[in-house]
Amino acid sequence: MMLAPMRIEARALRQGGSPENVARIGMGRKAAIEAVTRLKLTDVSSPVAIAGFCGGLRSGIQPGDAVVATEIQGPGEPIQMPAAAAVAHALRRAGLRVHEGPIISATGIAQGKKRSRLADEGAIAVDMESFWLLVGHGTERSLDHRCCVARIVLDTQQVPSGAWFKAYRSLVRAGGALRAWAAAVGPRTVLVAAPRSFCSGVNRAIRTTEEALAELGAPIYVLHEIVHNTHVVGSFRERGVVFVPEIDQVPEGETVIFSAHGVGQLERRMAEERGLRVIDATCPLVARVHAKAKHFVHGGYQVVLIGKKGHDEVEGVVGEARDRIKVVERAEDIVDLSLEAGSKVAVLSQTTLIPHEVEALTTTLRERFPNLHVPSDHDVCYASQNRQEAVRRMAPECDLVLVLGSRNSSNSKRLVEEANGAGTRAYLIDDESDVDLAWLAGVRTVGLTAGASAPEALVDRMIRFIGALGSAEVREARPQRQEGDFSSDGGTN
Ligand code: SF4
Repeated sequence: MMLAPMRIEARALRQGGSPENVARIGMGRKAAIEAVTRLKLTDVSSPVAIAGFCGGLRSGIQPGDAVVATEIQGPGEPIQMPAAAAVAHALRRAGLRVHEGPIISATGIAQGKKRSRLADEGAIAVDMESFWLLVGHGTERSLDHRCCVARIVLDTQQVPSGAWFKAYRSLVRAGGALRAWAAAVGPRTVLVAAPRSFCSGVNRAIRTTEEALAELGAPIYVLHEIVHNTHVVGSFRERGVVFVPEIDQVPEGETVIFSAHGVGQLERRMAEERGLRVIDATCPLVARVHAKAKHFVHGGYQVVLIGKKGHDEVEGVVGEARDRIKVVERAEDIVDLSLEAGSKVAVLSQTTLIPHEVEALTTTLRERFPNLHVPSDHDVCYASQNRQEAVRRMAPECDLVLVLGSRNSSNSKRLVEEANGAGTRAYLIDDESDVDLAWLAGVRTVGLTAGASAPEALVDRMIRFIGALGSAEVREARPQRQEGDFSSDGGTN
């Protein structure tokens, strides 16, 4: 239910939200108190959004901006509003400029010095109804996540020209956002996959970069992203790490780190020619694929690498011998594959794929090249497999799976595919700001995981975000086996 004081406010909310769920309450304290009884607000169990226009009290707040109350002040104890973060998120996604902070309810229109006094009390905006609606509605109810106050700034010290138009347009948008918020509110279970988040290779690459920064100081150059995650890369960038796409962008004599995805011969040679100090953070399990590729090429084989074209890891392996290593991503690529006549052929794969997809493509390759040499073990790493297995087991219990990871993270994208393969809707998100609240409507169980390059802190942030929409029971799916480091996997080389 949406509650709006004036007819024009109710109309804007109906235009943007659900027409049947907007009630007009009238302006001011007396009207608010009467509305509690008239609308039987004390019996409402569905989410309640108090919305409409307000006056801005803090500098920098403009007409048309949205203000979400973190607490409502009035002639009594302030009322805390735990839904604020989730409501602000919905309004931001609707394209509004949003401020979060205390809103004070005044007993009349506040102008001039009176308005300045209200600002001095710490409020960022003023309205005339919220406090009395909430007190009448039952303070204990306002303390849960089903109640919010979201206002659009109409005026600051005065009503500037065009303010009505801006505020009205923003309130229409707010109507849609509040509707999405209300549909997403509710108790739910959060099932957290295990294992998730950083693998040994990512931990090693991050530790290597931290140590280089500590010992050598900024700037440190990294060829490609150290791992495929915007948060990790952004944090290093802030501390003076420079990520470059090509080795010739590293100034001569400087230090360069090779990322966890590895590099080819050309980059290694160029680094030497330019007198660069090289620190190699290539994951040992990626390095193992490089070693196998070199071994086969030296043995006279042509190598078919199953992997995602253009991915840093795939480019690195191909870079060991560009004329002898071909990439196939899907079955159609195999039909078009042209190899040297009479050549021996061996197959390898990217480390972050799904094993059964590698096996299916290997079978198709064998049909075309009956003498194909297939190593006894495929190259998909234990970290990718364990995370995939955890999602495969968890997804059938979930209405929705959210995978924390960046768009260019291959292993994270595979986790989305695993959930989809189990028949569960899934999305890849960098963090909670990517969540569309419409995804959560009607969802009782959310599965949560993080790709091997996504920090665990993002999982904690996501749990807090879901908790702001209602009570959340958080359970961790137990891992099938504990992950160790490379030595426990026998993968170090
Ligand atoms: S996902 Fe696998 S291959 Fe990639 S860094 Fe982690 S352990 Fe290494």
